[in-house]
Order: sequence, then structure tokens, then C-alpha cells
Amino acid sequence: VAAVIIDGRETAKILRQKLNAEINTFKAQTGITPTLALLRVGDDPASVSYAGTIERGFKAAGLGFMPRLLPVSATQAEVVALVKELNADPAIHGIMIQEPLPEGLDQPVIIAALAPDKDVDGVHPLNTGRLAQAAPVGRIDEGEETFFVPATPAGGLALLKQHQIEIAGRHAVVVGRSIIVGKPMALLLLRENATVTICHSRTQDLPALCRQADILCTAIGRARLVQGDWIKPGATVIDFGVNFENGKMCGDVDFEQGVQVAGFITPMPGGTGPMTIVMLMHNLLKAAKRIAAA
Ligand code: NDP
Repeated sequence: VAAVIIDGRETAKILRQKLNAEINTFKAQTGITPTLALLRVGDDPASVSYAGTIERGFKAAGLGFMPRLLPVSATQAEVVALVKELNADPAIHGIMIQEPLPEGLDQPVIIAALAPDKDVDGVHPLNTGRLAQAAPVGRIDEGEETFFVPATPAGGLALLKQHQIEIAGRHAVVVGRSIIVGKPMALLLLRENATVTICHSRTQDLPALCRQADILCTAIGRARLVQGDWIKPGATVIDFGVNFENGKMCGDVDFEQGVQVAGFITPMPGGTGPMTIVMLMHNLLKAAKRIAAA
């Protein structure tokens, strides 16, 4: 049996329509255009390309986009000063710092300089800490969370929910433990009451662990590392990996094999990627609403 292919473009479109209406209502009610400042130091090609995708998406949605670029030679003090300037700027509601930062810059210090209320990328220690501390869903009604969740894993969770994949009580295996994808994905699944295993480069017998997963999430960055026989028949596979092999984009999972075994699987491209921008827009609107209400 071939899996159901989770269409990220289609799901993103559905969520974007709902979000567009919310953005328009907010703008009409407040006269405020939620605006993202994108801070980049240097011009890493992948970051430049990603910035272009964000700019197009945000402009199409009627959101503000303000690139703030520093030369690769910028000093730590200059970067921190710009972050502080954006923190204080009332016309800016969200700030995103693109990675990788050039060598010599102290990334944790720069991230800690962000105003947590404008940290729409969910990387400030206060936001990651609040995600780590969040109560399991259903335990207490916390309403909409007050913190920001990184957009890529938030998009992965939205794909699971939109496809009504059962999470509570299932075994979720997340491969990768970065601050921006793997770790927050594991925390989101834990909060949804999955039993979560986190794997990484030092994990022993990765295939055996993957084979136990009802929900397998990969955020590795290794082209087609995960083979078809690493997947439990009928499992759900959420592939975050963006890799290039002979000029072709592919995920961390061998899709041709995976689609024969899994129950649900995301393709690459067209899976997790399109969701990221929508979740970033969602976070920006949320930030603008909270700032306007304060
Ligand atoms: P990182 O390089 O920060 O993290 C990769 C993780 O994979 C690390 O935890 C690493 O382990 C682990 N890993 C590496 N090799 C292996 C291996 N052979 N076996 C098991 N684990 C391994 O990457 P990111 O989290 O930033 O990104 C992951 C992938 O997701 C990339 O392909 C990136 O391009 C993509 N991405 C996709 C987005 C989207 O919208 N879909 C958005 C952002 C990123 P260790 O910790 O031990 O080093």
C-alpha cells in the first residue's frame, strides 16, 4: 500500500486563507500593519534565498517586511546595537535573526538581546523555556500560549493536526535536536501527550529506534538517510530535511521507499517547507496583537 502524501502546499493554503482574514481584520481595526524585521549579517546564499521567500509571502499577505542587513565584517557590538534598536522600534512587531551568523559572532548573546515579545522565531531563552515548561494539552486550559514556538516545528504539528493524526499515547521519534527544529518538535509532541524519543548523531542503532515510531520526524540534514525499512508500516513520517543531491531537492527520508511503507508521509519539496512561512506569519500577527493590547 502506498501512503497518503501530506500536501504541505495545500494545507498551507487552507491555513493562509484563515490567517489572511485575521490579518485584514486586525489591520482594519487598529490601522497597524504587522511588520517583521529580518536581520542578516553577511550574505549566506541559503539565507538570501529564504529571505526572498519570506518577503514575497509577507508582501502577498499584506504584512510589513523590513530587511536590515549588516556586512559580514560587522562586530558583535554592532549586531547587538541593531537588535536593541529594533526592540525599541514601535513600527516593528517581530524580529528574526537569520542563521548562520558569521564566525566570531556570539550567537547565544545576540539571541538573548532580542525582546522576547518580538521573538517571532521562538529562539529567545524565555520562549524556549516556556515551551519546555508548558503543561500537557488537556491538563489545564491555558488558552492560546503566550510564548512563540519556532515556525518549522509548529508547521509540522499543524500538518499532523490538519490530517487528524492521533498523537496522544503514540510513540514519536524525532531525529535531530537543534534549537530551531528538532528540540521544539520533540517538546510540542510531548505536550500533545506523545511518548517521545529524541535521536541525534551519537544515537546507537538509529534504524531500530526509527522502526519503533508511530510518528517519525526527521530534522537531520542528510539526504535520504532514512531508508524504507527504517519505517514502521503505517507510520506517519514528517520530513523537515532540506538537502540537495545532484541539484535536486530531497528530504532526510528516501521518499520513494518511504511512500511504500508509511501511512502518511510528507514529500520534499511541498511538505513541511510551505508551512514554515505560514506559521511565521501567525507568530507575527500574534506579536502585533499582543503589542497593540499592551
Ligand atoms: P542542525 O544541523 O542544527 O541539526 C541536525 C541534527 O541532526 C543534529 O541534532 C545532529 O546531531 C543530527 N544528526 C546529524 N547527522 C546525523 C546522523 N547521521 N544520525 C542521526 N542524527 C544526525 O540542523 P537544523 O535542525 O537546523 O535543520 C535540520 C534540517 O532541517 C536541515 O536539512 C535544514 O535544512 C532543514 N530545515 C527545514 C526547514 C523547513 O522549513 N522544512 C526549516 C529549517 C531547517 P547532533 O546534535 O549530535 O549534532
